[in-house]
Amino acid sequence: ATPTALMVGVARAAQLGILVKGPEVLEATRAVDTVVLDKTGTVTTGRMRVAATTSFTGEDVLRPAAAVEAASEHPIGVAIAAACPDAPAVTGFEALVGAGARGEVEGAPVVVGSAELMARLDVVVPAAAAEWWSELGPATGVLVARHGEVVGGIALRDTVHPSAQSAVARLHSLGLRTVLLTGDHEAAARAVGAEIGVGEVIANVRPSDKVATVERLRAQGRHVAMVGDGINDGPALAAADLGMAIARGSDIAAQAADVVLVRDDLDAIADTVVLAGRTLATIR
Ligand code: ADP
Ligand code: MG
Repeated sequence: ATPTALMVGVARAAQLGILVKGPEVLEATRAVDTVVLDKTGTVTTGRMRVAATTSFTGEDVLRPAAAVEAASEHPIGVAIAAACPDAPAVTGFEALVGAGARGEVEGAPVVVGSAELMARLDVVVPAAAAEWWSELGPATGVLVARHGEVVGGIALRDTVHPSAQSAVARLHSLGLRTVLLTGDHEAAARAVGAEIGVGEVIANVRPSDKVATVERLRAQGRHVAMVGDGINDGPALAAADLGMAIARGSDIAAQAADVVLVRDDLDAIADTVVLAGRTLATIR
């Protein structure tokens, strides 16, 4: 491979809104046979909105949740904070990556996050919460706990990125396999998976398990491109043969990746693969 031809490939990628971090990245790209896509913020726009709030105890759910999430950068947190702009202040905010967030609100410890997080923190979960959860359908749900007890749930909706379905179809037409990987629950993941026509759906995955999933696919002999946007995707992006970050996502994802998709269009994934193939073909 002549360095000049590779540099031309990198420059051509830049014209397509694809930031390739070094000429050697194109060689890794050519071998890719499996594209793993993060769901929230990658396949979906990540611009979520609160669809419904349910209290299991009669206590206010949105106010304490919005107070905690005002300090959050996660799409779920941003949406919850936006739904209650006059929430009280939070102290001791802590983001629990891939799980939720917590802090003190008006003297009470408040946790917002997944059912799994509540179990991990030994929070008391009323029977009504399990019932609410099972009826969420395609919505994303988070539980809200105050003083170690779940007081309610918040259902959120996200929108699939307009380019996602055609981008997945194009990857398939190039002979690549696609996998949707998410920390979200099964029903929400399946709904998005069906909408975009993805090959395989893996849900309920913690950030550490995202890395394990990438490594498992690699151990099976697959050459994996991982596409993600979040802080939680950083390790999986680094573990993949090719890490691709969505530019509108977090800086940590962009730093961990080999390629940054500056163009807000998931078709840039296939463009990268095609460009790498052409660049290396001209070198032979
Ligand atoms: P994805 O893998 O789809 O990008 P994440 O790994 O970022 O999703 O989050 C996984 C799950 O963790 C979410 O579905 C939600 O239940 C929970 N979660 C993460 N961050 C927050 C937050 N700031 N507030 C509430 N819940 C959160
Ligand atoms: Mg994400």
